[in-house]
Amino acid sequence: MIVGVPAEKGEGEQRVAVVPETAARLTAKGIEVHVAAGAGAAARISDEDYRQAGAKIDASAQMLFAVADVLVKVGAPVLHEVAGLTPGTMLICLLFARFNPEAARALVARGITTIALENLPRTTAAQAMDVLSSQSTAAGYRAVIVAANALGKFFPMLMTPAGTIAPARVLVIGAGVAGLQAIATARRLGATVEAFDVRAAAREEVESLGAKFISAEIEEVAESTEGYARALSERAQRSARAVIDGVLAHADVCITTALVPNQRAPLLITAEMAQGMRPGAVIVDLAAAQGGNCALTQPGKDIVSNGITVIGRLNLAAEVAADASRMYSRNVEKLIEHFYRDGRFRIDFSDEIARRCVVTHGGEILHDELRAAIERERAA
Ligand code: NAD
Repeated sequence: MIVGVPAEKGEGEQRVAVVPETAARLTAKGIEVHVAAGAGAAARISDEDYRQAGAKIDASAQMLFAVADVLVKVGAPVLHEVAGLTPGTMLICLLFARFNPEAARALVARGITTIALENLPRTTAAQAMDVLSSQSTAAGYRAVIVAANALGKFFPMLMTPAGTIAPARVLVIGAGVAGLQAIATARRLGATVEAFDVRAAAREEVESLGAKFISAEIEEVAESTEGYARALSERAQRSARAVIDGVLAHADVCITTALVPNQRAPLLITAEMAQGMRPGAVIVDLAAAQGGNCALTQPGKDIVSNGITVIGRLNLAAEVAADASRMYSRNVEKLIEHFYRDGRFRIDFSDEIARRCVVTHGGEILHDELRAAIERERAA
């Protein structure tokens, strides 16, 4: 079996799906790994590093696409990549069909078996494959570094002969995987951290990181049976905004990560609330790709509005490409191990992982969200 690793095509994408440590372990199992020349360069991995791990370097992307039985990517493929794949090839990537309906349609037409990693079940069995969590960890960390860099102030309290400097005040909205990593990173840098979430279960995790938990009086169930947040009614959203506003007014930095599965991100910071922050304050909106938690966010841009910096970058994990790639690669390796039997990649639809994340197979769409994305694109 040949696993192919192409160079990523997405704008600003610096990660690579498989790193040499994974290539070495797959090679030891008898799996051939082919890597496109230069694929790891942006993540600071040379072709020589891959060669030493036992991988082959393919000078031409076309050759790589033609020989791979399993192609592993980070982002969704572009159309000409799909056209270069041999029908029957397995593709493993973060597809996000609603953002990439054309690619999704092309994968169906080409007869590619697509494993969309964003659909992995969040079960114990799939935990080691959970790329959403590993990449959220990278993004949460990076959000704080980016904020610290944009803020003209120290994060820690400093007591010096030149006077005492108070610690920066950080508010994190949404205490999921990214938010918890943002809290931990801001605490390590010495900031005073407060965090808001609608899930009551988040309190303990926030407090265990040394941050103060803030909640709103909401008279509705804000959590689904699977432990995810639900969309709030406009009334509850207003209560949440009122609580956030009181803390935001004293904050130097706000990292927003609030998401509700398959919905637009909740709008939790209005333009007036953002303008009410301390002069020079910084907002990093990790929900920018889903519409943003802040009304001032411009997806893909860093802007300054009346002295408040609002960072809406869409791929913060790619800014820590070396370690984000290492984590992604380890997740993918576990997935390949899960499906690899007797020298082949075998899909067994009685397995929950296969049922949830194989979204195209044999020219058919196997996933409702993908079907909806393709239908929306056809209707447009
Ligand atoms: P996410 O990225 O979907 O959302 C981020 C956070 O935003 C969540 O904590 C959510 O509660 C919060 N949020 C949503 N609406 C909000 C609002 N209006 N105001 C404030 N906050 C709001 O979250 P995630 O990181 O995927 O984590 C969600 C849940 O899934 C957690 O319970 C987490 O422990 C769990 N999880 C489980 C696994 C696993 O078992 N493998 C992996 C990752 C996450």
